[in-house]
Amino acid sequence: MKRPLQRHAEMEALFGADFLPISKTAAAAPKARPPVAAGAKKTPPSAWPYPWEKDWPADYQAFRTEVLDCRRCGLCSTRTQVVFGTGPAPAPLMFVGEAPGEDEDRKGEPFVGRAGQLLTSTLQKFGVERSRVFIANILKCRPPGNRTPAPDEMAACMPWLQRQIAVVKPKLICGLGNIAVQTLLVTKTGITKLRGRLTQAQGVPFFPTFHPAYILRNMNDLPLFEADIRQALQAAGLIP
Ligand code: URA
Repeated sequence: MKRPLQRHAEMEALFGADFLPISKTAAAAPKARPPVAAGAKKTPPSAWPYPWEKDWPADYQAFRTEVLDCRRCGLCSTRTQVVFGTGPAPAPLMFVGEAPGEDEDRKGEPFVGRAGQLLTSTLQKFGVERSRVFIANILKCRPPGNRTPAPDEMAACMPWLQRQIAVVKPKLICGLGNIAVQTLLVTKTGITKLRGRLTQAQGVPFFPTFHPAYILRNMNDLPLFEADIRQALQAAGLIP
């Protein structure tokens, strides 16, 4: 097993010299961010237009347009933009995280900040580009200051995710972190107990693992996360 310091050096190589594990205190008390001013700058998603969008079913395009204008909860007044999700539809594997953070809110694309870079690089480690999987969140809009999603926000947003699952038709959903896993499994059991065990959610095989942001703060669990991602890729038939 690698030592934490060695892992830290690896993460520095991955994320650049400014990589610092976020302390638990800092993570527990994220800096509040004022609501986005009207007309705040949206950065277009990195690979816009996505190459796979032309292959989406026509009604999925219409569905996306509907979601981009969602006003089902109060987050519509603080978001910069809706983060619909990216990837092919159908796709063999669907990742579901918690909610967009600041980077995702600005770019309109899920998992593009440091946690997202860890997810992307872990997929690449097993030879899979993120463009081959669908990536979504429980919430499509960023909660201010990255606070935990409120139950009414999750309830309002869940039908969007359910419709996505119906179109993406994943062989496997991989839940990332406590919020996604507990919400989809409708349980209060913690991720440490649930991770790495294949189960069912929303009528689809479901595989829970840690949130990559947790791994950035707990590098000792990186091997478990990598093993889980590998198992998810195998179960979805993306790698042998
Ligand atoms: N964390 C999430 O849960 N989702 C994202 O899209 C980014 C960070």
